[in-house]
Amino acid sequence: MAPLDIHQIPVLTDNYVYLARDPAGGACAAVDPAVAAPVLAALDRLGWRLTHVLNTHHHGDHVGGNLELKKATGCTIVGGRSDAGRIPGIDVAVSGGDIVELGTHTAQVLDVPGHTRGHIAYWFADSFALFCGDTLFSLGCGRLFEGTAGQMWSSLRKLRALPDDARVYCAHEYTNANADFALTVEPDNPDLQARADEVLALREAGKPTVPSTMAMERAANPFLRADDPALQSAAGLAGRDAVSVFAEIRSRKDRF
Ligand code: ZN
Ligand code: FE
Repeated sequence: MAPLDIHQIPVLTDNYVYLARDPAGGACAAVDPAVAAPVLAALDRLGWRLTHVLNTHHHGDHVGGNLELKKATGCTIVGGRSDAGRIPGIDVAVSGGDIVELGTHTAQVLDVPGHTRGHIAYWFADSFALFCGDTLFSLGCGRLFEGTAGQMWSSLRKLRALPDDARVYCAHEYTNANADFALTVEPDNPDLQARADEVLALREAGKPTVPSTMAMERAANPFLRADDPALQSAAGLAGRDAVSVFAEIRSRKDRF
């Protein structure tokens, strides 16, 4: 089976909307359409027809284009069951363990609360594509608006268990600022240093740093490494349990 074709659309200040299209049947999803106009323009340019919206959570910069896209295309809107009341135009409510069909492709729905209580992610194993909204960023993670550190840590561990080659399609271009912070936590991590250099070069060339890979995030993202003794000692938190290490570095990032 040919993998999904994925098209990245930068919108607003630093959001990414993704179009994911099944080359076999033409089914096409917009993931977290913050706004509609650039999505409609991209569809037009590519000659793709929108069949679905996949929302990861209810924030305005992820659902803002839902109603206009539905009106323009008649697409089906999929979102998290526990967020159903907060997702405009929702048609299909899903939660962890559910399967979402996109033509001949399928996504596994993962519950990843922490940033919001109803946050979900979509894992297209057949295309090694993870759409994780504001849960996992390259070298960072989402703020804890509605969840606890324990919930977010277990959500991140769930994502961390995906294969090395999983591509991480997160919803924001925050990587450069995340790298600056990550280097304060673990300055001597060579994988982090290499990624930070790469990120700087990509941004200077006007290119996206997203998607990254799960292998790279596991090696360099401090928020996936709260149970790693190397990170704990670099951060001055040796011997603490993983949740409290995670909570401490998350709160350092909030103040950074
Ligand atoms: Zn958000
Ligand atoms: Fe966001």
